[in-house]
Amino acid sequence: MDIDISKVSEKLNLDEEVVKNAIERRVISFCKYRDKRYIIFKKKVRHIERGTILFLNEEMDVVMGYPKIRRALVLDPTVKKHFIDKVIVEEKLNGYNVRIVNIDGEVLGITRGGRICPFTTKKISKLLNTDILEDHPEITLCGEVIGLNNPYVPHYYPEVDREIYKDGDMVIKENLGLYVFDIREGNISLPVEKRNKLLEEYNVPYVKPLGVFKKEDIEEIKNIVLKLNSEGREGIILKDPDMMVGPIKYTTHYTHCEDLSVAFRYTFDLGIHFMFSRLIREGYQSYEFNEGEEELERRAVSIGKSIIYPMVESIRKVSKGELITEDFELYFESEEDIEEFLRYLREVHISYVVKEREVLKDNIYRIVIGKVYPSTKDKIKSYLEGSLW
Ligand code: ATP
Ligand code: MG
Repeated sequence: MDIDISKVSEKLNLDEEVVKNAIERRVISFCKYRDKRYIIFKKKVRHIERGTILFLNEEMDVVMGYPKIRRALVLDPTVKKHFIDKVIVEEKLNGYNVRIVNIDGEVLGITRGGRICPFTTKKISKLLNTDILEDHPEITLCGEVIGLNNPYVPHYYPEVDREIYKDGDMVIKENLGLYVFDIREGNISLPVEKRNKLLEEYNVPYVKPLGVFKKEDIEEIKNIVLKLNSEGREGIILKDPDMMVGPIKYTTHYTHCEDLSVAFRYTFDLGIHFMFSRLIREGYQSYEFNEGEEELERRAVSIGKSIIYPMVESIRKVSKGELITEDFELYFESEEDIEEFLRYLREVHISYVVKEREVLKDNIYRIVIGKVYPSTKDKIKSYLEGSLW
């Protein structure tokens, strides 16, 4: 592909050799979305984060990858050690990360990996006021797309039920929302208060703080975690008010169990990768929350159930000849939009089957896509047919 290596290297402050080498090793790949051509960093190269993208336009606009958020296994003493003085506690929403930018007058939704996602890009204008990016074209809005009706992390959030159609008794609802949690300019995050003020000005939804504490007030933070756990929510992100040090994440027992049950439903595709880290988190959490015999046993039982029930269910399914898929129910506005999204899934090598497809109204198209987990089905089938482990 025709790219000006010297310009790319200048723009990213990387040696030309490093850029060439990354292209050869296919760490940099070339992509296209409609008339926009861009390159993606699939892995971290020097100071360039994974998921960074550079548009091959006049300006060679760069959108930096979203940095990794480190995890605390115990809140005490990690929070005291890491933060400077005050800590803002925000809810950690369980959806997918999206960076929203305005490139040559067009608002785009970029996934963590650095792809312009056609589904996300179309929904953005429905979910938030994008004027903010017209007035401030230099910023990147970073947010979490949540809800049941998205193609990556389907998880129901009652607060994002939206009516997309209503006529008398006939109501069509979509469970989808977007909450901004960070505004970045290059590699710098706006201080939290400034971020909130700007977002409020444009009426853009953002994650609300659950509290501001002195870094020593860990008991209060632990109580928030317990409350979120009882409400079936994912966890917290702790932030320095001025974003002078990186945020830290901490998640609930509820979410660890959810993760395990997803992992073991797709045993041989996700199991190994997910299991160890979730179990470790549970061990440290039980210790930190001073659990007695009874609580520990309750935890053990719920972890065990999260693993064994979905795993056995998958074995049963395969034994009956059924396909193992993770299903996503999505709403589009046209056949063309559906086709564009399915093309995108093929481009990113996600195998899928279309399970349902119907036109509900003039411009409401509903589709259920099953993401196929090939290893899980093949391995289970082969063991059931007598293969040795
Ligand atoms: P990471 O590489 O950051 O560890 P991950 O893929 O392991 O990412 P998570 O464990 O979900 O993801 O944790 C980090 C992600 O949490 C962020 O990238 C962001 O998408 C999401 N997130 C949800 N709520 C918030 C919030 N309030 N502040 C910051 N990030 C949030
Ligand atoms: Mg997440």
